[in-house]
Amino acid sequence: MERTLRDRTVLVTGGAGFIGRKLVGALVDDNDVRVLDDGSTGEPERLPDAVEYVEGDVRDADAVDAAMADVDVVFHEAAVVSVAESVEDPARTNDVNLSGTVATLEAARRHDARLVFASSAAVYGRPSSVPVAEDDPTDPLSPYGLQKLAADRYVRMYADLYDLETVSLRYFNVYGRGQRGGDYAGVITAFLNRVREGEPPVVHGDGSQTRDFVHVSDVVRANLLAATTEETGEAYNVGTGASVTVRELAERVVSLSGADLSVEFGPERTGDIQHSEADISKARAALDYEPQVDLSEGLAELVE
Ligand code: NAD
Repeated sequence: MERTLRDRTVLVTGGAGFIGRKLVGALVDDNDVRVLDDGSTGEPERLPDAVEYVEGDVRDADAVDAAMADVDVVFHEAAVVSVAESVEDPARTNDVNLSGTVATLEAARRHDARLVFASSAAVYGRPSSVPVAEDDPTDPLSPYGLQKLAADRYVRMYADLYDLETVSLRYFNVYGRGQRGGDYAGVITAFLNRVREGEPPVVHGDGSQTRDFVHVSDVVRANLLAATTEETGEAYNVGTGASVTVRELAERVVSLSGADLSVEFGPERTGDIQHSEADISKARAALDYEPQVDLSEGLAELVE
């Protein structure tokens, strides 16, 4: 099986964002790479020169269709990723996260392009047990999670109905250099930013909640494997299969930074899930996916 992507025309929606830019970086030497991004949270100025940048919105079917010309594989990363924003404005975020995905699927269908979708562990909501597997119940807790779940189903439905080659990748908590702080997915960055300012990191609740933090380079690797797999029409968890408590994470960030700070505790956040950890056996078996950066290594790189 061909495991690398070469000499193809590739579209990355949301390619100016945190994960998209890393993906573009891994593709650009061997492929023609086009990025479609509206620049809302992305940083197109940080894209390599060889990339064809198209400023446009995934809600605009004509713009997506034009960007899909001659494309062999589309990586659909564009989304409003803020859970809080989805609670604030379900209608607008639904337009981007769900209708934007259907528009991208339609264009992929017209141009017969394989589509790899950035789904999320948010589809599971509060898992009944961990590690959580792909066929475990899905019960999202936010409009964001519900939008990702519906999009994830559409992606697989396009494989069944139209024989389109599609793969959904359910990312767990992604981290790495270049991530914006503040939001939940960026908790590591948020801790680091606080510590750099000489302030203690703030943990919401008692910090006993667990998360599966996956390094962005492993997420990129999963995308490249999904682009070439024969096992399409499926959803795969992309995590590490291990988890850490948020309290321990905060302590590790402090100690790696060599700062003389203790961890601060703030009010629990409504809708926060207690435990999250991926069962990655399906991705291991079908995609040959094996995470390569463990948390200690990933944190050390970030603190440097
Ligand atoms: P990001 O915000 O850095 O990237 C999203 C990109 O999409 C940005 O460049 C933004 O400008 C662009 N975008 C937003 N709305 C758009 C629109 N209407 N049209 C075109 N472009 C638009 O976020 P990220 O962390 O890189 O996330 C990438 C994908 O991975 C998203 O689909 C997200 O839901 C998913 N995901 C991320 C995580 C995580 O932990 N970061 C976890 C699970 C899933």
